[in-house]
Amino acid sequence: MRLLLRCLRPGPRRRSGLLRRAGHLWRYGRLCLRSLLYNSFTDGDVLLDSLFEPVYWLVDHVTRWFGVVFVVLVIGLTSSVVAIVYICLLPLILQTYPPAWICWHLAYGHWNLLMIVFHYYMAITTSPGYPPQAKDDLTGVSICRKCIAPKPARTHHCSICNRCVLKMDHHCPWLNNCVGHFNHRYFFSFCLFMTMGCIYCSVSGWDMFRDAYAAIEVSGAAAAPPLRTYYQTPPPAFSFRQRAFHKSIVYLWVLCSSVALALGALTLWHAALITRGETSIERHINKKERQRLQKKGKVFRNPYSYGGWNNWKVFLGVDVPRHWLTRVLLPSPHLPHGTGLSWDLPPCVREQRAPLLAI
Ligand SMILES: [Zn+2]
Ligand SMILES: [Zn+2]
Repeated sequence: MRLLLRCLRPGPRRRSGLLRRAGHLWRYGRLCLRSLLYNSFTDGDVLLDSLFEPVYWLVDHVTRWFGVVFVVLVIGLTSSVVAIVYICLLPLILQTYPPAWICWHLAYGHWNLLMIVFHYYMAITTSPGYPPQAKDDLTGVSICRKCIAPKPARTHHCSICNRCVLKMDHHCPWLNNCVGHFNHRYFFSFCLFMTMGCIYCSVSGWDMFRDAYAAIEVSGAAAAPPLRTYYQTPPPAFSFRQRAFHKSIVYLWVLCSSVALALGALTLWHAALITRGETSIERHINKKERQRLQKKGKVFRNPYSYGGWNNWKVFLGVDVPRHWLTRVLLPSPHLPHGTGLSWDLPPCVREQRAPLLAI
């Protein structure tokens, strides 16, 4: 028995041979795994993206499915505010205001409502613009790693729409659509006119809100257990219709002022980006590039910025002065400059620069 155990027990020479063999197998396995997973593009960002992939997947799917809910919410809340204005505020304005103020409220209110409805409808129904799938149609462009298709300048891949979008700004859940080259103006105009409408309702309804809020507090005190003495004046009893009126006014004012603050901040942010000739995505890319060049002692220049005022004219499609009225202050379905595939100088900028070049 002892002889058998001695035969089975590995000697020092045999043990080192086993260890060498195990080490060899480990290195071989690691080499095989690395060669299978090798990618020249792999870096820290790719690794982080891979780790967060399940989180992105969840957010993308939730946003995609909730997009319809958000659109219904926008339409429902806006309709409720418009209904309250027509049912509660307009009769009061017609009865109590002087004719000049009645004309102003009727004209401004309806113009603002028309602009909101038009730009929201156009923003959700207009395609942001997609690059062609054929590789021959474009030259000098990069390739999208997800679509394996040409990606022109300013184009980015939207993981929610699962395709590339021309001059992509962001994917907006409130529109259930991407904001890109062909609907960027509709998105911004909707934000602007919605903010203006909310400010208009909040300012013009301020006195009514104060009265309605005080009335709700008084009726709340009347509903509480009676602690007053017999000589105190009892609070006025409001009918169901009056209580509904007061609550509607408070709802309208709280909703409009909250939206005015939140959407106003977003509109200002986008206005600053438009002034700089950037999209939300380019803001981050340009910031990095600016810092990188700054370290080298160079100055970054945005190739898509033509100066603050010109950027607004290009964005709004204003080529001649009368366009400020027909294309900005009135609903207009005009297309933006260019195809979104290449970025030549827009006509209004080219005309300005031509005399300078001639000199
Ligand atoms: Zn893509
Ligand atoms: Zn999208």
